[in-house]
Amino acid sequence: MSGDQLHPSTRAIQAGRGPAVPDAPLNQPIVLASSYREIGYAREEGSPTWSALEEALGALEGGVTTAFASGMAAAAAILEDLPVGARVVGPQVGYTGVRELLRERAEAGRIELQSVDVTDTQATLQAAEGADLLWLESPTNPLIGIAELDVLCRDAGTAVVVDSTFASPLLQRPLELGADVVMHSATKFIGGHSDLLLGVASARDPERVERLRHARARTGATPGALESFLALRGLRTLPVRLDRAQPTACMLADRLAAHPAVSAVHHPSLPDDPGHERACRLMDGFGAMLAFELHGGAEAADAVCARVRVLTHATSLGGVETLIERRARYPTEPVPPSLLRVSVGCEHPEDLWRDLEQALAVSS
Ligand code: PLP
Repeated sequence: MSGDQLHPSTRAIQAGRGPAVPDAPLNQPIVLASSYREIGYAREEGSPTWSALEEALGALEGGVTTAFASGMAAAAAILEDLPVGARVVGPQVGYTGVRELLRERAEAGRIELQSVDVTDTQATLQAAEGADLLWLESPTNPLIGIAELDVLCRDAGTAVVVDSTFASPLLQRPLELGADVVMHSATKFIGGHSDLLLGVASARDPERVERLRHARARTGATPGALESFLALRGLRTLPVRLDRAQPTACMLADRLAAHPAVSAVHHPSLPDDPGHERACRLMDGFGAMLAFELHGGAEAADAVCARVRVLTHATSLGGVETLIERRARYPTEPVPPSLLRVSVGCEHPEDLWRDLEQALAVSS
């Protein structure tokens, strides 16, 4: 069977292992060399450890992957490609770092920025008319909104970038839907253990790939060898981590929706969630990220964060440990004050529910 006939979860385990010859190591070792005999310098040409990760992710995404020092480094390299004065349409709700990067570039006069609700397809298409770049994030951070990636990639008439971090390459492959670039903070689900920083950007067009690699070399936004090794090792268990975390997220979303202290739950598994039909159409699962709001407001939400014992009150996401955070604690986050974002991990589902229930008891 050829590689592209395999299920993505098998590809995540098999791709990027190098030549299948006797005595070859099963896993690409950590190569720490910056310089190679005769010719070759890691910042310019890459390193075997990054290449193994890039090969595995490229095989999953259906493109060529470039690894960066972090998700933000990948985002910055993608924007580096734009001429001064380019018109960019970006997400109103999305990862703060990327929104701020876009805003700062606009304030510095480097781009012209218009922000839209990327879950509103018509508004997004309208804004994209005549733009040089449409930057999408789906599912969105932290509202778990689902954009119609198939329609937007087909009809936007401009280059489309999708930040697919919340879905991971197993649940959503935007290049197959017509996106020009897909990026991930591999710090999250790909790494899976909250112990590294790394970003990846994948594209099909060889010239675009070349420009991404050039931006990496010029800005020096190169990944570390250890981080690349860990990210690839994380990718190997992404299928089983998601098999565990996704049903738990669906169960928690269901139970939270029935809890008297909870005023809203955002997870596409819920039949009345605005993203439900889109997620069924576009994703291979509902994902392990959810968010919920409380009748008691910000104070009640902070109390929940202070009371959890199995969940951990911390930022970030995509690891084996379940994290909870009130996102409006950051002044730049345009979300309801009580919104709690949960990155569901791999603990026993009933332990997580019991912990949330006791933490919510004070809010009812
Ligand atoms: N994109 C999304 C959706 C994120 O959630 C994050 C980080 O939280 C990033 C990009 C930035 O990634 P990194 O922290 O690896 O630079």
